[in-house]
Amino acid sequence: MIPLAIPNLTGNEAQYLQDCIESGFVSSVGPFVTRLEKLAAVAAGAPHATATSSGTAGLHVALVAVGVKPGDLVILPSYTFIASANAIHQCGATPWLMDNAADRLTMDPDLVASELATHCTRKGEELIHKPSGRRVSALMPVHAIGQPADMDPLVDLARDHGLKVVADAAAALGSLYKDRFVGEFGADLSVLSFNGNKTFTSGGGGMILGDDADLIARVKHLSTTARNGPGYDHDMPGFNYRMTNIQAAVGCAQLERLGEFVAAKRHIQAAYNAALTETGLSLLPTPEGIESACWMAALLLDPHRHPDGDTVRAQLAERGVESRPFWRPMHHQAPYADAPRSPMTVCDALWPRVLSLPCSTDLSEDSQQAVITALKEILA
Ligand SMILES: *Cc1c(COP(=O)(O)O)cnc(C)c1O
Repeated sequence: MIPLAIPNLTGNEAQYLQDCIESGFVSSVGPFVTRLEKLAAVAAGAPHATATSSGTAGLHVALVAVGVKPGDLVILPSYTFIASANAIHQCGATPWLMDNAADRLTMDPDLVASELATHCTRKGEELIHKPSGRRVSALMPVHAIGQPADMDPLVDLARDHGLKVVADAAAALGSLYKDRFVGEFGADLSVLSFNGNKTFTSGGGGMILGDDADLIARVKHLSTTARNGPGYDHDMPGFNYRMTNIQAAVGCAQLERLGEFVAAKRHIQAAYNAALTETGLSLLPTPEGIESACWMAALLLDPHRHPDGDTVRAQLAERGVESRPFWRPMHHQAPYADAPRSPMTVCDALWPRVLSLPCSTDLSEDSQQAVITALKEILA
């Protein structure tokens, strides 16, 4: 079976793990954690970075740090992985779900503007969602599958309405938006994931990026049990969301190959597009002004010409190719079905058509050719 996306661990991972064992630094203090934070900050163009135990944990603590409170609403695209919505829920807040822009996988700034204008009112410093009476405190753009959200208008909207911006940048390391790196898109905080299926993995882990030193210090404090000094003196309810040195050791070895891995992902994406356009198939398009990190190679099926995603997946599996349907939007998920939301025209037309294809960074040309041949047999 040609797998969907497996980690590429052929660099310094084993040696760095051995270093952890030999030095005894296996837990949440250690040189690899500091080094990974520096590597990630440089790669993302962010002045500061702090590591967490997962991307989800990073999103949660980032929302708490910017001041999201129980009862708040946080604006979120419905088309995302459930971790984004769960992080909001863990704050005691509720996602306010938005549709995608017509030409993108990401949140529509014009729609957000009109939803805010229609449903919100100002009360002093606060933005209130009239139908629920709740405060709207933050906006969470998602750089879906490595494609940056249209950040300039989203950040402008947030500033105009007094909202904080916490970006779910899980798979966006290596992406560019208007020639800027992911740490330079304008969010107050951006959160990467180093989960096993992402381009770069630390086994599990996350990284919070930001340019406000005080805010990052607050994130670090909150994610490390809010401890003051060497004694057991804690000044607020904190979290144990630290990354371990073992995780960071793997992460450092991965980020040493950042350029190579992103180039491999982009090459795979381009090769699929080149081979499939003649058959009228394509991967999800990348809008202008954006260079995606191409985390996932996502095929767009045509409901009028092709079998549905499950059928295609089963037929690919018979030919030794693993594929998978992609995200089911949050308004179709049991925990968030009742969350406030915009109309979902774009998202509802899009999500059933997406099928992810093998795209590991070490996918060989022969394997990719086998995937393409199988696709042509099934869909031609
Ligand atoms: C992978 C992913 C996450 C989750 O990160 P974890 O490190 O697994 O907690 C969150 N949001 C998006 C969009 C993702 O793709």
